[in-house]
Amino acid sequence: MLVEVKRHWRDIEVLDDGLRVRVQPGLTIAQVNAWLAPYGRRLGPDPSSSTACTIGGLVANNSSGKSCGTEFNAYHTLQSLKVVLPSGTVFDSAAPDADRALRAAEPDLHEGLLRLRRRILDNPASVRTIRHQFSMKNTLGYGLNAFLDYEQPAEILAHLMVGSEGTLGFVAGAVFHTVPVLPGTATGLLLFPDMRAACDSLEPLRDSEATCLELEAGHRTMARRMLRRLRDWTDDGRLPVVVDASSCTHGFADLAKGLDSEEDRAAFAPIRFVDAVAFAYAELLPHLDVTRRVSRVALHPTCSMHHLGLVDTLREVAAAFADTVDVPQDWRCCAYAGDRGLLHPELTASATHREAAEVTANNYDDHLSSNRTCEIGLTQATGHPYRSVLTALEEATRADRAAPHDTGH
Ligand SMILES: Cc1cc2nc3c(=O)[nH]c(=O)nc-3n(C[C@H](O)[C@H](O)[C@H](O)COP(=O)(O)OP(=O)(O)OC[C@H]3O[C@@H](n4cnc5c(N)ncnc54)[C@H](O)[C@@H]3O)c2cc1C
Repeated sequence: MLVEVKRHWRDIEVLDDGLRVRVQPGLTIAQVNAWLAPYGRRLGPDPSSSTACTIGGLVANNSSGKSCGTEFNAYHTLQSLKVVLPSGTVFDSAAPDADRALRAAEPDLHEGLLRLRRRILDNPASVRTIRHQFSMKNTLGYGLNAFLDYEQPAEILAHLMVGSEGTLGFVAGAVFHTVPVLPGTATGLLLFPDMRAACDSLEPLRDSEATCLELEAGHRTMARRMLRRLRDWTDDGRLPVVVDASSCTHGFADLAKGLDSEEDRAAFAPIRFVDAVAFAYAELLPHLDVTRRVSRVALHPTCSMHHLGLVDTLREVAAAFADTVDVPQDWRCCAYAGDRGLLHPELTASATHREAAEVTANNYDDHLSSNRTCEIGLTQATGHPYRSVLTALEEATRADRAAPHDTGH
């Protein structure tokens, strides 16, 4: 069941001159921060998805961000939480008698939480593990540190909800402590010759009291790491790497450019990347019988297919089961740019409006492409569901739809 809370669960109350804020789960972090801005305050967690991330998602996903660290995350800035439990019990940890109310309404849950707490406390190894894991940035899974930080089941439950991914209950409201918006900020980018030199600099940089230090492995390091794995997976290049998203095929094809030594480049040379559409064209089509043809399809060739020189191949695969394959005159990059289009749909709307006009002026049996995010972008732009040309090929070449093992899914 999918519950959409962004429309009606949007009440907000700024408390104590912005030092705290009471929020409902449908507000996004950016919306809450806009309310807090006049007070010079904001929420502690700062995921880069703040314009889309709701309070419910923030708590249940333990969304954090670059500068919230281990101190200003959801767990530590949460003052109280209102939760609807699977039984229907509504529990608010802010109520003065919250723990008594929880025990009265949910005695088994209350006792179970106390029992789990005792089990952890009685086992020094568990205590050490939990303390260690939560001394670092640790955003995966339940906030198990709640068993060590709180004694009352009401508080334990409220903090266990952080990272619960929707499993323990529905987050219906929260009160957060806020953090100050700093009057001035600066960002620096430091380049190091290798990982060791970068790590050696961490300590002095940490002592500079920077809010956030991020270590990013460069393209060259990642390319080398990937190269080693690819050599293993492909049996030193004997097997091709078939890639099922054209933008990734394109990315892999460029991987070698990140290598700076002759030795690395020679090690990379035997590895072959084959786009799944080209693989289907060369290896599958000759052995397939088309059992269901369609009349006319619209095809969006992604920009990576264009760069890979595979637009004609893509068209040929579609033409194997469609009488007419239309590539719009005005097709171009859909500007979805990985997942950017999720946050900025206006980019895709702008880049595709001519192509969308051409597509919507005609009737098509199917709308096809070769990269999932581009398909999502074109679906949004045209209102017609785009899908992979390979999915359509598979359907068009099924031997017998009514075969006993075939459930139609
Ligand atoms: C482009 C992009 C950038 C991102 N950057 C970051 C980042 O910098 N740092 C970071 O930590 N994360 C980041 N994320 C992940 C992001 O934090 C999560 O996508 C965000 O938490 C999702 O919030 P949402 O409101 O969309 O929740 P959804 O995706 O809708 O849900 C996330 C989970 O929370 C549960 N849930 C949602 N609402 C409730 C509720 N009211 N009660 C109970 N459970 C609920 C859902 O069941 C699901 O398990 C990023 C994601 C994207 C797409």
